[in-house]
Amino acid sequence: MAWEFETDPEYQELLDWADAFVREEVEPLDLVWPNEEFVPLTDTRRKAIDPLKDEVRKKGLWATHLSPDMGGQGYGQLKLALLNEILGRSQWAPIVFGCQAPDTGNAEIIAHYGTAEQKKKYLQPLLDGELFSSYSMTEPQGGADPTQFKCLAVRDGDEWIINGWKYFSSNAKTAAFLLVMVVTNPDVSPYQGMSMFLVPTDTPGVNIVRNVGLYGEPDNEGLHALVHYDNVRVPAEALLGGEGQAFVIAQTRLGGGRIHHAMRTIGFARQAMDMMCERALSRHTAGSRLSDKQYIQGFIADSYAQLTQFRLFVLYAAWQIDKYKDYNKVRKDIAAVKATMPTVLHDIAWRAMQVHGALGVTNEMPLFKMVHGAAAMGLVDGPTEVHKTTVAKQVLRNYEPFDDQWPSSWIPRKREAAQAKYAQFLELEVGNL
Ligand SMILES: Cc1cc2nc3c(=O)[nH]c(=O)nc-3n(C[C@H](O)[C@H](O)[C@H](O)COP(=O)(O)OP(=O)(O)OC[C@H]3O[C@@H](n4cnc5c(N)ncnc54)[C@H](O)[C@@H]3O)c2cc1C
Repeated sequence: MAWEFETDPEYQELLDWADAFVREEVEPLDLVWPNEEFVPLTDTRRKAIDPLKDEVRKKGLWATHLSPDMGGQGYGQLKLALLNEILGRSQWAPIVFGCQAPDTGNAEIIAHYGTAEQKKKYLQPLLDGELFSSYSMTEPQGGADPTQFKCLAVRDGDEWIINGWKYFSSNAKTAAFLLVMVVTNPDVSPYQGMSMFLVPTDTPGVNIVRNVGLYGEPDNEGLHALVHYDNVRVPAEALLGGEGQAFVIAQTRLGGGRIHHAMRTIGFARQAMDMMCERALSRHTAGSRLSDKQYIQGFIADSYAQLTQFRLFVLYAAWQIDKYKDYNKVRKDIAAVKATMPTVLHDIAWRAMQVHGALGVTNEMPLFKMVHGAAAMGLVDGPTEVHKTTVAKQVLRNYEPFDDQWPSSWIPRKREAAQAKYAQFLELEVGNL
């Protein structure tokens, strides 16, 4: 009977170490260098950050998302989930542990599809935490529907020339290279006519037109670039995987990316839950503590139940990925987890904010940022609605239409069948009366 809810003691020790390390050494980085985790390190910052990365490496917790043949630890997704729910508390923690999005997903596809040359040039420095990358897929006219993409590459001898626009290419301004999804054959279905290119950010013609910020961030100082690819010439070797393979490659990347966001969101939502409980126990109003009010108890109970359900679902999805080693087989549950994530984070952070009163909505507490983060989570790696559609289609595969005016669970028909089945006993009962 293998149905376990326990972590083996050896790994639990590592998790306890990571928990204390993140709290004491890493979370302070979020306050001294906020929102700067993707800025390449200066010599001064290196002196602070490199020793932290070294400690993580010594513990064997560096880049745990990758298998050993790809340069990682081979812990698998379940162990990564337990670690990521700790790292999710801090913006800097994924950097210090070598598992930050979008670099994790980008590394994964270069490891899968890259040539030896591409791996040497891009993968190794990514795994070493020496450079950042950007994933450049969404276009201004449509993100959720890749059949709308227009950015085009045309072959010219040994080179490709890329022209078009990309939107929300996160971290492009500090990335060393971009993974760009481009139409290479407009005459076939977009699912066969798009290819993925590895483009160094300093290639002539790669123009970052604006660095779009999220709400509350200063104009043009955000992380999400509007990029104009203006006659960008790249050699044929810049193609990742085969021509026309971009969709397959994107799927490999997004499966992992989505579940990793969910793992970190557990940590983020738990932080909001902790804040809510601490405040409820600390604040007195109208003759009692907030924690004695039934409304507030309802907030706490609902949040606990939502967080626990979500956490178990994420761990179950991670366990399945380890078991099947195939994201496609777990597609339904990854999509369901992805679709659930924004609501869980939103609801818990919103209640925590309400419990903090006016203080909750200020920039002196991280709660509104969490609520806003939940909204962003509903779009990153595809909108919630699209994921729900995927879940529904997969769920419906296990059902058949019922060919009758009355549904199969219509009680009169079922009762009639049940009475026919037990007719002889029913008759005896009647005879005995
Ligand atoms: C913080 C953040 C970081 C991001 N980082 C990156 C990145 O690094 N690289 C990158 O390429 N992109 C990135 N994106 C873009 C993201 O992938 C897109 O925002 C997303 O795919 C949705 O595309 P869109 O914004 O164009 O919305 P649209 O495609 O215009 O969709 C708008 C809305 O329409 C509805 N909708 C759309 N399609 C359907 C459907 N089939 N069924 C039902 N309803 C539907 C949904 O409600 C959806 O929210 C990022 C986005 C955010 C918010």
